[in-house]
Amino acid sequence: MNNPENKEQIITRFAPSPTGYLHAGNYRTALYAYFVARKNGGKFLLRIEDTDRERSEKQYEANIFETLEWLGLEFDGMERQSDRVANHKAYLEKLIKEDKAYISKETPVKEGDRAEVIRFRNPNKVVTFTDLVRGEISVDTTDLGDFVIAKSIDDPVFHLAVVVDDYEMGVNHVIRGEDHIPNTPRHILIMEAVGAPIPKFAHLPIVLAQDRTKLSKRKGALPLTDYRDRGYLPEAMINYMAMIGWNPGGEQDIFTKDEIIDLFDITKVQKGGGIFDDVKLKWVNREHMLKLSPEEYKKNLETFMPEHLSTLDTYKPRIDSVCTIVRDRLEYFKQIQEMYDEGDIEYFFVAPLYDADILLCSEKMRKGKDLTHAGLAKILATCKLELEKLPEEKGEFVEGGEVKWNKESVKNVLWPIAESEGRGIVLWAVRVALSGKEKSPDPFILAETIGRDETLARIQRAETFLKEKTIVS
Ligand code: GLU
Repeated sequence: MNNPENKEQIITRFAPSPTGYLHAGNYRTALYAYFVARKNGGKFLLRIEDTDRERSEKQYEANIFETLEWLGLEFDGMERQSDRVANHKAYLEKLIKEDKAYISKETPVKEGDRAEVIRFRNPNKVVTFTDLVRGEISVDTTDLGDFVIAKSIDDPVFHLAVVVDDYEMGVNHVIRGEDHIPNTPRHILIMEAVGAPIPKFAHLPIVLAQDRTKLSKRKGALPLTDYRDRGYLPEAMINYMAMIGWNPGGEQDIFTKDEIIDLFDITKVQKGGGIFDDVKLKWVNREHMLKLSPEEYKKNLETFMPEHLSTLDTYKPRIDSVCTIVRDRLEYFKQIQEMYDEGDIEYFFVAPLYDADILLCSEKMRKGKDLTHAGLAKILATCKLELEKLPEEKGEFVEGGEVKWNKESVKNVLWPIAESEGRGIVLWAVRVALSGKEKSPDPFILAETIGRDETLARIQRAETFLKEKTIVS
């Protein structure tokens, strides 16, 4: 979007402290700051607030960069607060010189307390600001007293640093969590003292965990990159997080990042806290997965496929069909591994082992018919005999079109046998012959996926297995 000449360019920032893994609430803040900047042709800046030397850790900082990159929240500038200490010091000196702050002698009460700090000379007045989310907020700052703005001239506290940094970085929209509302009156007083223009503020409602407790870095919230590692799509994550506490109205739930940028309106953010709901997130993710092209879907899925399967000769010819089959079921890509662990993937690539009792369907499905292992072997032999007549590729022309190996033609061949021997018995047995499992996709889809040769071979194996079983028992 163009920035009209006469309008100030909007500059927002995300100012995380790398003192733990940031959670979805933190990144939702980043997202809204990003949307406001992008929607208005402005700038989105990143400031790593790493002045708490004891609690800040490089691994957390690295994770912030990784997460922003994964989400595709590109920033237009980046600063580390620890690199800015000289600037903070200059402002502190100026404030002291102008008697807007002073060095205060303290009486240490406990170990570690300082004998000296720098306090702000509070003008003790009512501060009023208009929050873009919550409307007008007025606070009498008298209660705050002469609050501390630095532990020493080289060691500013958050209030001073954040004001100086936002001012110098040109930030004119401060978008942050509502836990900062009590700090804002202090910040406005400091801004007035240093002659900084007052930015617009938007304090965002908190994001709660499913159990309605506050998501918290200190409580060890999971890093958002865990979702990446489970095969969630960044677009889905953005879509879902954007909707915690905001929606554009209407029925639509699924949006791309660009659509959200277009629709986003910070003044429509709800005041109440929102809940991070894993079930809803999965649903949104699945919707985004379904929007992927078959190629993109496969690429994503393949990163989670058990490695030994992907090296098999059967892998390449079958993986596309497997993608089509699982597409309906998966809510995130790593679920393919859970399916594999449950034995629901391997049979697409490797012939299964059998259990005679599973091959023989339940009495209920047999509808009272007597059926021995030998009897079932005979039925499977018939199925194989008929299926052998179907060519793999080049079909013969029969009434109704060309016949070649696919799920429809396999069904047409098996159906009459099923009709005469019992549908439950035949379709069940062929399916289990192909998958080895009580539950699996239907035999026609399986036959198409693994192809003619493998289908015939597996039916033969099941038949032989049943015969041997008969001889032994
Ligand atoms: N570093 C602060 C935090 O992580 C954010 C400060 C701000 O956004 O003004 O809570």
